[in-house]
Amino acid sequence: MRCPLFLAVFLAAAALTASAQSQPENKPQEPALPYSPSLDVTSMDRSVDPCVNFYKYACAGWQRRNPVPPDQTSWSVYAKLYEDNLNFLRGILEQAAADSPSRDQVTREIGDFYAACMDESAAETRGASPIEPQLAAIAALRSARQLAPLVARLQLEFGRYIFFAAGSTQDPDNSEQVIADLDQGGLGLPDRDYYTKDDAKSKETRERYLAHVRKIFELLGESPADAGRDASTVMNLETAMARSQLTRVERRDPYNLKHKMSLAALESLAPNFDWKTYYRDAGYPPFSIVNVDAPAFYKELNSLLASRPVSTLQTYLRFHVANSASAYLSSAFVTENFDFYRKYLRGAKEQQARWKRCVSYTDADLGDALGQAYVKRAFSPGLKDATLDMVRRIEDAMGRRIRELDWMSPETRQQALVKLAGMRNKIGYPDKWRDYSSVQISRGDFAGNRQRAAAFESHRQISKIGKPVDHGEWGMTAPTVNAYYDPQMNDINFPAGVLQPPLYDAKMDEAPNYGDTGGTVGHELTHGFDDEGSQFDAHGNLRNWWTKQDREKFNARTRCVEDQYAGYVVIDDIHINSQLTLGEDVADLGGEILAYLAWKDAIKGKTLESIDGLTPEQRFFVGFAQWACENTRPEEARLRALTDPHSPAEYRINGVVVNMPEFAQAFSCKLGQPMTKPPAKVCRVW
Ligand SMILES: [Zn+2]
Repeated sequence: MRCPLFLAVFLAAAALTASAQSQPENKPQEPALPYSPSLDVTSMDRSVDPCVNFYKYACAGWQRRNPVPPDQTSWSVYAKLYEDNLNFLRGILEQAAADSPSRDQVTREIGDFYAACMDESAAETRGASPIEPQLAAIAALRSARQLAPLVARLQLEFGRYIFFAAGSTQDPDNSEQVIADLDQGGLGLPDRDYYTKDDAKSKETRERYLAHVRKIFELLGESPADAGRDASTVMNLETAMARSQLTRVERRDPYNLKHKMSLAALESLAPNFDWKTYYRDAGYPPFSIVNVDAPAFYKELNSLLASRPVSTLQTYLRFHVANSASAYLSSAFVTENFDFYRKYLRGAKEQQARWKRCVSYTDADLGDALGQAYVKRAFSPGLKDATLDMVRRIEDAMGRRIRELDWMSPETRQQALVKLAGMRNKIGYPDKWRDYSSVQISRGDFAGNRQRAAAFESHRQISKIGKPVDHGEWGMTAPTVNAYYDPQMNDINFPAGVLQPPLYDAKMDEAPNYGDTGGTVGHELTHGFDDEGSQFDAHGNLRNWWTKQDREKFNARTRCVEDQYAGYVVIDDIHINSQLTLGEDVADLGGEILAYLAWKDAIKGKTLESIDGLTPEQRFFVGFAQWACENTRPEEARLRALTDPHSPAEYRINGVVVNMPEFAQAFSCKLGQPMTKPPAKVCRVW
């Protein structure tokens, strides 16, 4: 239940401040990184009227210069940073991969993992053999009752996407405790809506998915006729599972996800699955409570287990094991995976170079090991101090806002201040790095490395159950170019990767830095007080701390934002699903208001001058807009319209400034002036 700045996760660009250590002569130099300033006037298009389309005014130059590269589905300031960072991490990993006896533990882990991944010819030779033991176990299944131990094993080795999603979560009523958790899952398409919608595009997507499933079965050696029949079986089962799942909008109400029960109650909800054996084989510690996020899904799954033949369950499992593993099998699997998921669904023209994928896998599987190497080179204590100062100023601004709100009663105001005071700030990287020494990493076994890393992560999640919460834990790796708020932890998290130029630019003055990174800090902080986050208290418990009247006034304010964004078009005739994006839209607006207040506080008493024909206030807003400069392929835009809780980049800027009198004043616009359609009225939540 985290609220990131982006749905997609980007790795960081390394900092310019990367220490220029002299390299041993026989080792390659770490690549130098291009510097991009946090405000770049060449990215602007001053022929556009900022009062009519501010996003274009700030970003059209960038958009013209930066078409989407063939291996990308969109291209943005964040994505470019990610690409620069991949290069930087590649340098670190290539050095680490040199098989030298002097390597320390962490260097050996990331180096051998990367080397194994890069060995494409080994993957080619092995074909589908890395999943043969699992396929044999699936073939040996004789009854639905025997499914439990098999699912326990497959979920450990292939992640939590087989039949359902299992793991641990903070108790929604007592955030200091971790309990077992069961969520819906098990689909091969990115959302349940793909299975249920009746428009032409959705039907086409289902046809293409069916062809993809068929191809995977053919790659496993089935005849075209068998593969076609098996693909229909998978589609049929997944469609039934999808229909019983909660929608993304329903999942934004935390009460819809709270169903704590005993193991006995779970057994009576879904008696056809052998839960005791499942939990024993998956290595769970004894527990008394499990939260079932979506009981209707488990009820349906239970009846499917009874009504479908065992062969259907085997067919489903065969596909999902091969589909989950396809990225690390031979090139035929890799290509099929790319063709459907990245090319058809998201619009990429070309596969990414193997080294890019291998850097990303290393970050995903050994993130804290790679993170240590990254932070050493890219995150100085000075940078941490500077950004922490910014965070504190933004929290102060939020405190002032809460005290000044004219619509809030003293009772709720007091509670809001308590929540703000209880918020933890996590900047850069964790105090304690995760230890991967128990994961066996072999230079010659990429598939095995991935399976063992997945099992390590599953066990790590499971072993938290029954223990107090670790408040030092991070949900993103240090090199990640993203940030998040976690309502149950009540903390805001900014990895080192997101605190780099052009997002945070130590060389630049405060105006664009506050507009950009200050706005991001404000965004995450506001998540604690958006329509969803505001239902959790200072301790992260799901508890109403609002008076009825204040909640109604708050809801009227968020409704204003919901109506505003519902009017914007994503692509063709698809509008923003503003019930899905509401929390992010509220955070975008609140974040920028806070950043502006904090910036004014930081520059108090200073005399600032215009630079490049822009006043300091204008520079604040151009800096803000330029975090979001982006080009997006139409396929990617369509996928995001269904799955992404964030609005498209253009509206994350225009939809915000149109509500800010501070902006209208800075550019001498009329407040609420046409920013490519909506507002009839001006919205302000916080
Ligand atoms: Zn967010």
